[in-house]
Amino acid sequence: MGDHKINVLSEETIGKISAGEVVERPASVVKELVENAIDAGSDSIEIEIHAAGRSLIRVADNGEGMTPEDAKIACMRHTTSKIRDINDLEHVYTLGFRGEALSSIAAVSQMDLTSCAGSAETGVYMYLESGNVQKIRPVGRSRGTTVEVRNLFYNVPARRKFLKKESTELAEIVNVVGRFIVSCPDIEIKLVHGEKRILHAPKGMDLHGRIRLVLGGDISDQMIDVSANSETYKLSGYISRPSSTRKDKRAQLFFVNGRFIRSRVLGDAVYDAYRSMLERGRYPFVALFLKMSSSEIDVNVHPTKLQVKFGDEKTVRNVITAAIKDRFEQIKREEVVVQSAELRVPGTGIGAPESPVSPGSSEVQTEFSYEVPEGIFQGLRAEKGSSRGEKIFPEDEDIFQMAGCYIVQVKPGGITVTDQHAAHERVLYEFFSKAAETGPVETQNLLFPVRLDLSADESVIMEKTREYFGTLGFQVEPFGTRTYVVQAVPAVIKDRDVQTVIHDILTDLSSYDLSKIAIVEELIKVSSCRAAVKAGDALSKEEMISLLDQLQRCALPFTCPHGRPTMSEITVDELEKRFRRK
Ligand code: ADP
Ligand code: MG
Repeated sequence: MGDHKINVLSEETIGKISAGEVVERPASVVKELVENAIDAGSDSIEIEIHAAGRSLIRVADNGEGMTPEDAKIACMRHTTSKIRDINDLEHVYTLGFRGEALSSIAAVSQMDLTSCAGSAETGVYMYLESGNVQKIRPVGRSRGTTVEVRNLFYNVPARRKFLKKESTELAEIVNVVGRFIVSCPDIEIKLVHGEKRILHAPKGMDLHGRIRLVLGGDISDQMIDVSANSETYKLSGYISRPSSTRKDKRAQLFFVNGRFIRSRVLGDAVYDAYRSMLERGRYPFVALFLKMSSSEIDVNVHPTKLQVKFGDEKTVRNVITAAIKDRFEQIKREEVVVQSAELRVPGTGIGAPESPVSPGSSEVQTEFSYEVPEGIFQGLRAEKGSSRGEKIFPEDEDIFQMAGCYIVQVKPGGITVTDQHAAHERVLYEFFSKAAETGPVETQNLLFPVRLDLSADESVIMEKTREYFGTLGFQVEPFGTRTYVVQAVPAVIKDRDVQTVIHDILTDLSSYDLSKIAIVEELIKVSSCRAAVKAGDALSKEEMISLLDQLQRCALPFTCPHGRPTMSEITVDELEKRFRRK
């Protein structure tokens, strides 16, 4: 150290640090390697993963390959065949151009690279550790490239330690590969994890088939095509009907010039088009492809190229909003009913016990009748052995629903206001918790089992959690690749839209990094929240009474499982103070 405190970092340290920008996790390795395979003009790409990418990521392609000389250069920092200088960025149509991926991946792993530039050429095999070439020799290979990345972050313990659970990392890889499957309909893409084939998009599979493969049938079967052409922009793809929505934006895929990006501009554009038709906190799903001259966008604003900057944001936004709105207008004219979200009364329903929830049609739920006296908490009543005869609410109490969300009780001593969602969530939470402890809950067999066509990442979560779903009374059976059938649900939620509830539960679960112990607890929380009546659900008087009854029987009735209050009271005393009578 001596008399200076500023160190010049070694090449190796510099390499590892800058690798961190490109290689955050196994999925980023997959993304970069597949991008290279696509840029190399491959029409078949095979991805093999072990231990969710911790132990091995292998990407093999049949693209143009590299000569031995090029292969050596390609693994050095800042080397690319795709641009020569910054001006080339104006007309870059390849996915890569920064020349950082191979060297970055090599810097933080043990990497084998085999490549051959054509039948007349000799292939090359290289082995690198921490970015240094350890072995290089000629080898036979058909045209194409295979990169094998072993023990990712073996030399960056801090990074390795922060890898998430296997299911989380795998779900992210599945997402990444799914996006390529959708954006490259002419390329055969296969993803294998261990012994298991997770995704396979053969050559002839068209865009709709690929969206179906990746997002699942529940989504894709609801989609409508959309397109728009102007001199500068070409838009194509699929959008969902306003009545089929998700609770997050994960099923919003945007591709600009073939590149998957995240974009506020595009997200807002879509939202504008649906604006008046969506329930709060719900989002449509879309797969949209925008093509434009590459001089109209800056693709070099993000290390992993996940974002772009549009030259003319406003026009881009308008193109998309207008295209979607026009399409809805057209559909309306064609008398296909686009059911507005406001019209849909979500299933607080009290249908007959065997009322079916048919797959894919959330609208079915509007047909319940409010007259049936036994309400949504029927199952609970039976479970807890309570009966309406107990008269928890005396006759001289008035009770009504306010703002579609609050249950207001006027009592001699004051006014009590209960948040219907928070209250029901608490009730279900205690119900499910008890079920998880003491065994089987009362379940309701569905007369028409509900079919679930899950997206690729949803099915990873489902595989992990299916047995725990069982604990809580959801009987979910596998039914072919990524298709499941719900045979039975907990009786307490039998009248809710089963498909939406399960999709929402899976979405919530996927944002957690789940250990086995935590799964049940999360599933209980999430199921309670997703299955509870929502703000905006109309409740009959009997249902309100039943809910308050159940809430009173809870161990911790005053807060929902997230800690928000379930009820609030204004006493006559308080009113008197407000009116300065006291
Ligand atoms: P970039 O893709 O930004 O150019 P990379 O580090 O990903 O940078 O790759 C460096 C170079 O290596 C590429 O420009 C390309 O010439 C070559 N290369 C990498 N992967 C492949 C592949 N699968 N097939 C053919 N060439 C490849
Ligand atoms: Mg690249």
